[in-house]
Amino acid sequence: MGTTDVSPADAPSFSLELNDDQRAVRDWIHGFAAGVVRPAAAEWDEREETPWPIIEEAARIGLYSLEGFAQLYADPTGLTLPIVSEELFWGDAGIGMAIMGTGLAVSAIFGQGTPEQAATWIPQCFGTAEDPAVAAFCSSEPDAGSDVSAIRTRARWDEATGEWVINGQKAWATNGGIAGVHVVIATVDPELGARGHAAFVVPPGTPGLSMGAKVRKHGLRASHTADVHLDECRVPGDCLLGGRERLGERLARARSGARSKGQAAMATFEASRPTVAAQAIGIARAAYEYALDYARQREQFGRPIIENQAIAFMLADMKTEIDAARLLTWRASWMGRNGIPFESAEGSMSKLKAGEVAVWATERAIQILGGNGYAREYPVERWHRDAKIYTIFEGTSEIQRLVIARAISGVQVR
Ligand SMILES: Cc1cc2nc3c(=O)[nH]c(=O)nc-3n(C[C@H](O)[C@H](O)[C@H](O)COP(=O)(O)OP(=O)(O)OC[C@H]3O[C@@H](n4cnc5c(N)ncnc54)[C@H](O)[C@@H]3O)c2cc1C
Repeated sequence: MGTTDVSPADAPSFSLELNDDQRAVRDWIHGFAAGVVRPAAAEWDEREETPWPIIEEAARIGLYSLEGFAQLYADPTGLTLPIVSEELFWGDAGIGMAIMGTGLAVSAIFGQGTPEQAATWIPQCFGTAEDPAVAAFCSSEPDAGSDVSAIRTRARWDEATGEWVINGQKAWATNGGIAGVHVVIATVDPELGARGHAAFVVPPGTPGLSMGAKVRKHGLRASHTADVHLDECRVPGDCLLGGRERLGERLARARSGARSKGQAAMATFEASRPTVAAQAIGIARAAYEYALDYARQREQFGRPIIENQAIAFMLADMKTEIDAARLLTWRASWMGRNGIPFESAEGSMSKLKAGEVAVWATERAIQILGGNGYAREYPVERWHRDAKIYTIFEGTSEIQRLVIARAISGVQVR
């Protein structure tokens, strides 16, 4: 969600010591992750379906709700959100994403919409405790992944009806087609590239929006991913996030060649990177803890395998890398929450490091478990499959490096 409602001058000083509220929420989510999420993880991974009973349980306990999410974002230190994300994804990343995937659409509405739009649409993203809904954020297209400026989905204004008419195809949308609210990034002026983009809410049940092919994935299989088709999809004028006046000003600035403060899709990704990093850390920590335990129990050559430096050093490196990733993530989260500019692309640094560490640490965990690491009876192969997405979505590792390189050099590195 928005990150600038605390001025940098008032920012709480950065502390690694969690306060009572943070510890309480961490323990609460850990209990849910250990007791409800993790025991269900293998089943939903095999089924490759959205785990609605678990989303319903998360809604029933108040975790999956507007109030629950608002509480996470409200913490002025910014640390509650990564702490909760890490715990939930420690339980399972596929189910974690089924619960948290709505957050991307919520962030877009909160960050780019007016207060009235936020009040109208954000509650609908969640549905109710009795009948929860999920939301989708649709930016990527078949020919526009890393290159967001290549988006072709077009929104045109119909003066006669006062509606926006959206046409195009979205790819890879988490919750795409099964969501109630879809937030769709479309171009209103293709000549302006990314600066001609705008974000639209497509309300639940709008004719013209339909689900395309569902993606069968390597990991994160309890999270639904699909194409979304928009065919003469008409939405009311006030579904343009931020409103027409603000869009008109932005387009005028772009046409005059003035510098931009960022564009629709990138603004959403920038704010959410540390949260995504924390999810990756949750997976890495799960694998590390499991491998540590296993190495203590498993005996070969008459002694526990952890007594071999080769194994113990792997675990030492895993712990060190995971803690390093978490420190980068908490720093970026604290900065983002307090409106401190990411001058060295600290958000991207956290996502890059955490994603790479998650892939590496889960692979090390497989190695430590030997054959059992490769078997589906044990969770580490699933964690490895799940971890891999963190070097791809919300900006690939290469794109994060590009963002960091440009930030530190001032050079338009390609
Ligand atoms: C499970 C899953 C869920 C997703 N959820 C969503 C969602 O909810 N909403 C949404 O909008 N999108 C979503 N995505 C899409 C995701 O954001 C894109 O897959 C990602 O941005 C990469 O785009 P691409 O797949 O087209 O890869 P490409 O952009 O085609 O990249 C392919 C390779 O080329 C590299 N590359 C590209 N450009 C450069 C460059 N300039 N310099 C160096 N290397 C480069 C990349 O790093 C990568 O290694 C999801 C994807 C997945 C797999």
